[in-house]
Amino acid sequence: MRALQLHAARDLRLDELPDPRPGPGEIVVRVERALTCATDAKMFRTGRHPALGPLPALFGHEAAGTVEALGEGVRGLRAGDRVVVANSAPCGACSPCRRGRQSLCRSLVYLTGAFAELLLVPAAIVATNVLLVPDGVPAEHAAMVEPVACALHGAERSGAAPDDIVVVLGGGLQGCIIAATLAERGCRVWLSDPRESRRRRASDFGAERTFDAARDEVSIEAIRDETAEGLGADVVIEAVGRPEAWQAAVRLASPGAEVLLHGGCPAGSEVILPTDPLHYGELTIRGSYHHTPGAVRSALDLIARRALPLGELLGSSVSLADVPAALAVAGEKHPVAVA
Ligand SMILES: [Zn+2]
Ligand SMILES: [Zn+2]
Repeated sequence: MRALQLHAARDLRLDELPDPRPGPGEIVVRVERALTCATDAKMFRTGRHPALGPLPALFGHEAAGTVEALGEGVRGLRAGDRVVVANSAPCGACSPCRRGRQSLCRSLVYLTGAFAELLLVPAAIVATNVLLVPDGVPAEHAAMVEPVACALHGAERSGAAPDDIVVVLGGGLQGCIIAATLAERGCRVWLSDPRESRRRRASDFGAERTFDAARDEVSIEAIRDETAEGLGADVVIEAVGRPEAWQAAVRLASPGAEVLLHGGCPAGSEVILPTDPLHYGELTIRGSYHHTPGAVRSALDLIARRALPLGELLGSSVSLADVPAALAVAGEKHPVAVA
């Protein structure tokens, strides 16, 4: 099969490899569509990630396709089934897993190898996080299950309730899906992003109002002035992944607000926060990371309803050979046509 392998930082090659054969509990999926992701771009630049293992390593972790072969003992799947494979599975045995916090699993099993004609899926993922794709759902939408699940996990942790003013910082895929989910719940979602195209897109995903970036004091004030008595938002969700956006989130929060820090900052980042709003304003600050098997299922349900303009979250389609160039200019999420 043809498969992309990372040989070193910024050295991603299309290699000819032996076709994988499924061991006990494993399956092989013939990939129809894979998707590039910001995490791929980071791995490509640094050549490092816990999911990669020693180099050269297979690459890519968002894919949908059809079951090609099944290992011994696999139940509930047949050759030819259209499936989407989540990018990890929790172990179910460590202490966070036993407390129901699977996103914090200490021994997540990762998937790699989505940018290939055939994808070998580890037994732990087959057992937990391989889902049948309902008829009529395009493969590139089904393959969005992982990022959508992360957004749903964040929306869940935000504590947002109907009628709350929720300010979302960042109009990328995460911000848009969070906005849509909370708008559907009856929240009034305001979204801030420096790019006009993203603000327009956020409106399509249910944002009631949009604002230009809120990272400096003037634009933060402009948003806060619009809230009741100018006190700030009931819930603020940071979906950018930069320390200054984490700071802006706290500055936009009203007394008693919930602040969700959803975006992953560059490794080693630190952030300085004002103590007054945290203490006198009794803010609740939460982080959110990754997803759970429950969120993966909810994500596919959301995708299958086809109520959201998911195509707007995807850039142009590329071939396997084009992936290195697509990753070098980070930003857009590109469908990768494999089949
Ligand atoms: Zn991803
Ligand atoms: Zn675990």
